[in-house]
Amino acid sequence: MTEKFKGSFTQQEPIPEEGIAAALEVMRHGRLHRYNLAEGEDGEVALLEREFAGYVGAKYALAVASGGYAMGTALRAVGVRPGDRVLTNAFTLAPVPGSIAGAGAVPVFVGVTEDLVIDLDDLQAKAGEAEVLMLSHMRGHICDMDRLMAICDAAGITVIEDCAHTMGAAWKGVPSGRHGLVGCYSTQTYKHMNSGEGGFLVTDDDEVMARAVMLSGSYMLYGRNGTVPPEAVFARVKYETPNVSGRMDNLRAAILRPQLAKLDGQCAAWNARYRAVEEGLRGTPGLRMVERPEEERYVGSSIQFLLLDWPDAAVADVIDRCKGRGVELKWFGGAEPVGFTSRYDSWRYAPSERMPKSDRVLKGIVDMRLPLTFTLDDCALIARIIRAEVGAVWQEQAA
Ligand SMILES: *Cc1c(COP(=O)(O)O)cnc(C)c1O
Repeated sequence: MTEKFKGSFTQQEPIPEEGIAAALEVMRHGRLHRYNLAEGEDGEVALLEREFAGYVGAKYALAVASGGYAMGTALRAVGVRPGDRVLTNAFTLAPVPGSIAGAGAVPVFVGVTEDLVIDLDDLQAKAGEAEVLMLSHMRGHICDMDRLMAICDAAGITVIEDCAHTMGAAWKGVPSGRHGLVGCYSTQTYKHMNSGEGGFLVTDDDEVMARAVMLSGSYMLYGRNGTVPPEAVFARVKYETPNVSGRMDNLRAAILRPQLAKLDGQCAAWNARYRAVEEGLRGTPGLRMVERPEEERYVGSSIQFLLLDWPDAAVADVIDRCKGRGVELKWFGGAEPVGFTSRYDSWRYAPSERMPKSDRVLKGIVDMRLPLTFTLDDCALIARIIRAEVGAVWQEQAA
């Protein structure tokens, strides 16, 4: 009998009951705007900012409307001006180059390696071309951060980290988002905490945070934020920084606070699922696993493998066969982007030289979400299905 998987790859867990209760409370009192506070009240957003700053060990955290908004705000806050060039990953999600274009700047794409991290040799070669790097830890893969920071420090490049897939992750024990000047996170439904939409930016830099707070639309109420740079710093920036409204509201913050308290446990649950799939796939002929370095503490909320140098039709066949058995794989090598699988050549507003080594890797990337609604048995079943279908197509090719 052919096994089929019946679960949904887009079904996340419910919001914790404490979060639902806290959200109802906010709706009952009606003060949803973050600066609409009763006498002596901190507000859910400010409390969340303090808790998130504490979680990643940053001096400052700012809660905002989305991860993309956090990145755009970080770029403006570090001083990116229209027309500037900004280095970023060729393998990332559309809102990353979008945040650069949104600031009027020009993305310069850096290649991807077979380990699915930024190609540090290519970064070294392009280091003279820009003063800022928007580094995306795409699909949770963290590059050698020591070497990356050495390259960027030597070239005078400011690093902003896109940690949409690395909230809860670390490199050599340092939380992701804490190597560069600014770290950006998303709390959109498919990330590690779920408020529908939402995000954070974190930094230790007084002036960057003061500008980010003004940009987010604090009017002159910045004293009510959760983590606040000194007044003297605001005095320097508050009349010079435009308001580009993108605040978080108390309702979302109320939903997020109990999730933050549970985050490390959730990350462990993702990793157990990741390992179950990884174990089931290891040794499949023709399939290359992405090995994780020892220095990396990852969060396995999705898993990738490579069908490297396979003909397009054979990869498409694997995707179809798995789909027929209920396993939803995404392929970054298709002729047209589907869902989130766009790549640097899909972003035609930002033309780039072709990168043949990266194109070879991108052509082979297969990706799968691992929502926490899957059991470990589900994960083992999914791996058996992928293993069987990859194996069948591999043998057909050999014949
Ligand atoms: C989701 C995502 C973002 C942006 O987050 P939004 O909250 O959806 O704006 C940025 N980078 C990556 C890699 C993402 O997956």
